[in-house]
Amino acid sequence: MPFTTHASLTAACTAAQAAAHHVITLVAGLDGHRYYLVTSTPDLGATAPYVHGAVAGQSAHAEMHFICDWPEILRDFRTSAGRLPKRCELFLSHSPCRNEDDRASPPMTVSGVDYGTSCKDKLTLFFRKNGSIRFSLRYWLRFASAEAITGEQLRANFGELDFGRMTPENNYGNPLPRITA
Ligand SMILES: [Zn+2]
Repeated sequence: MPFTTHASLTAACTAAQAAAHHVITLVAGLDGHRYYLVTSTPDLGATAPYVHGAVAGQSAHAEMHFICDWPEILRDFRTSAGRLPKRCELFLSHSPCRNEDDRASPPMTVSGVDYGTSCKDKLTLFFRKNGSIRFSLRYWLRFASAEAITGEQLRANFGELDFGRMTPENNYGNPLPRITA
């Protein structure tokens, strides 16, 4: 699934809002300079193993695409900025799936790194592997099993990560899809 590149968060979120209603969106902002929009493969109910580059009919969460596309995203950023990024802000329409979820994303191997079940575990490992970059994550809706716990419990789940929910008052002026409150 290709990502799209945008010069501002507003432009990336406008594109995210145009995505299909059942698609989960992820916007990654690098140093406030370039913004990348990645979406889930629509059918999140598919059970076939995920193979990057051959996603038709398969289950691929937006976070999986993001991790697979990361080298290409970095190349684009480096071409544009002339250096590597120091900061990566992730804006997700839904909190990452967890092992508690029936449809947690399946394991995958990318560039020789084994990522386990769930996007929470994948991202946690991904952030650790990219320790020179400061990551933060903001979500709008709690995904699946996370709906049954509080925002604080969910935050505790993500350890030391700069992690939290967007609010209608603090959504960076750029509401992601389905923000109707
Ligand atoms: Zn997921």
